[in-house]
Amino acid sequence: HERYLKTMRDADRNATQPAFTADGERVEVFVNIADPSEVDAIDVATVDGVGLMRTEFLFGGVHGLPDEDVQYMAYRKVLEWAAGKPVIIRTADIGGDKPIEGYSIVEDNSFLGMRGIRLSLRRPAVFRQQIRALLRAACFGKLKVMLPMVSVPDEIDRAMALFEEEASLLEADGVDHAMPDIGIMVEVPSVAVQPARFSRAAFFSIGSNDLTQYVLAVSRDNADLSELADPADPSVLGLIENIVDAARAQDREVSLCGDAASDTRLVPLLLQTGLRKLSVAASRIGVVKEVVREWRKADPAPGLRHTA
Ligand code: PEP
Ligand code: MG
Repeated sequence: HERYLKTMRDADRNATQPAFTADGERVEVFVNIADPSEVDAIDVATVDGVGLMRTEFLFGGVHGLPDEDVQYMAYRKVLEWAAGKPVIIRTADIGGDKPIEGYSIVEDNSFLGMRGIRLSLRRPAVFRQQIRALLRAACFGKLKVMLPMVSVPDEIDRAMALFEEEASLLEADGVDHAMPDIGIMVEVPSVAVQPARFSRAAFFSIGSNDLTQYVLAVSRDNADLSELADPADPSVLGLIENIVDAARAQDREVSLCGDAASDTRLVPLLLQTGLRKLSVAASRIGVVKEVVREWRKADPAPGLRHTA
């Protein structure tokens, strides 16, 4: 308990300092956000950037689907707040656990259905509006765009083609814009098993929430199965290591933005896989940095439920 209190005190005091492991290795800590007003309560000095901006909130309002300018202002606000630090904005991940009435498709087995990039590609008029807003906002900072729920390389090609087309249209209209790096969430087993096939992605960000659900075939929102939905299961950790190794071999940035990165029990295990970029809930920035500072490569993994 004493040690916990000390960690919490240090976490507050040292939050604006970058995190280095006890061996002196730099670990970047990013923040996850959704509504842009959240950044008003976060000191940008405490983070290395935004590792995940979820954009589903834009679609849930009473006014129906968001228009391009509403999106543009939301993205621009976060980029201006970040003051040059990288900001990863994820295109709409609707469907599955994030349905939008009147927009997402009602189906059995929605977690295996029309969600994330699949729905965006199915509704190109809506997707194109989000793309235009992103291209315009990219002038205001270091924007990176991330595609959710990618399961085959063709989805990246199709999304990139839409980004190129919309950039040409903006160019023709004389509208200021810039092309961001485009990367993918790694949260479907087909990507985690063979990440090298997805080399068109500029970066990877591991979605441990969905990856755990799909690898263990256990729904992410069933409280009775939460014991089984364990991102520390060796099957999940082994895949995370596989993704990190593949990213390193191809000189591609890799981070993890699922809830596991905010869990101080799991952070040492994630560092052991080789991950050096974690994106966490705003309330966890300081404490995750403290765990990083106490971690040493040679330390044995802390006791876990399912590890052998
Ligand atoms: C994830 O799946 O781990 C993730 C970060 O995305 P979301 O929780 O929004 O599905
Ligand atoms: Mg996900």
